[in-house]
Amino acid sequence: MNAAIWAHPWDIIDEGSEAVAERLLDIGITEVNLATTMHSVQTLNPHNPERKTFFADASAYFQPDESRYGELVPDVNETMGDADWLAEIANGLETTPVSLNSWTVPFHSSKQGRRHPQTTLENPFGDSLVWGLCPSNPDVREYGTALVAELADRGDVDGIEMELADFQYGTGYGWHHQEFFTRLGGLGEFLFGLCFCEHCQANAREAGIDVETARESARNGLEMRFEGGISHRTDVAGWLAEHPSLARYVGTRKAVVTDLFDEFAEQMGALPFGYYLKMGGLGDDRMGVEHSWKHGLDLDALSEPLDYVTVLAYHSDPTVVRDDVRTARSLIDVPVNVGLLAGHPIVDSRASLVAQAEAAAEAGAEKLSFYGYGVVPERNIEWIRAAIDAAARI
Ligand SMILES: [Zn+2]
Repeated sequence: MNAAIWAHPWDIIDEGSEAVAERLLDIGITEVNLATTMHSVQTLNPHNPERKTFFADASAYFQPDESRYGELVPDVNETMGDADWLAEIANGLETTPVSLNSWTVPFHSSKQGRRHPQTTLENPFGDSLVWGLCPSNPDVREYGTALVAELADRGDVDGIEMELADFQYGTGYGWHHQEFFTRLGGLGEFLFGLCFCEHCQANAREAGIDVETARESARNGLEMRFEGGISHRTDVAGWLAEHPSLARYVGTRKAVVTDLFDEFAEQMGALPFGYYLKMGGLGDDRMGVEHSWKHGLDLDALSEPLDYVTVLAYHSDPTVVRDDVRTARSLIDVPVNVGLLAGHPIVDSRASLVAQAEAAAEAGAEKLSFYGYGVVPERNIEWIRAAIDAAARI
């Protein structure tokens, strides 16, 4: 079974591409999923020889050809200066057997959102959600498509894996100090991030949907949740079934995402197109793959543009990992890989990571991807070796 590992550019630049490749091959990893465009992040780097932490605003780790872009252009990472980390790493790995995938997060960018507030998600009350760009917005679609095309044309990578190129929602994945002193629950999180920008509204009107009624339902649902009129445990699908205009409004988003992914696939040409199924939450709050519709993902339809998916099964219980892989395999007709978080708070021992890898392999995962090279301690890298060995015996 093939195994991959996620990496931030500084993980590899600081240690040197060849040294990293040697170490990865030693533990059985043959692919690196390298962040090329990412959300804001602060990492703890336990075994980095140059630094123990790194903060990056939402940014790109290559020098874009700005002539390819429209309103939105990739934000070059400030620390990188004139360098091109993607090219450096690709060159460094070229002489090794380790292949390189682009890990591309196009629309989760508080920096783009601040610069281009008209392109962000707009909640039912009309507030801009600065951390997320709306995939219905033509400028956002142009940006995503140009980004994918440039990454493919540069020739640095062997495949492109995307994350959060769909309808994100909720409170923004904790990128800043948040003061949410009301328990939103699943329904509140969903409605709070449901986009009512002019483009989403126009798509729905074209489909014959009563947008005002839909929006009123979303506002009422949130206000009732704020005041405790409905439980934080309210089932989203069940509640939507009682609000048919809003349910139909939510449904129109699927075609928006599928069309965009078709465009991405076209721009990638022969490069494999992978997508991460990440439904939000960690541990017991984590949602399974069956919630993918909340992001506007129509997994059946996406079997066409996608070459594979990676389920981010970040849960300490191996039976949840197994169910996630099985569910994904039942919903989409492409190979299903699994992403395992090889560190705190999901994994606290070699045995727990091994059990997760075994469960994923038993459920039919075709590849293991581990999170992540620079952010777990040396000890956990050895656990990854054990997990790969264990999965290979399944
Ligand atoms: Zn929108």
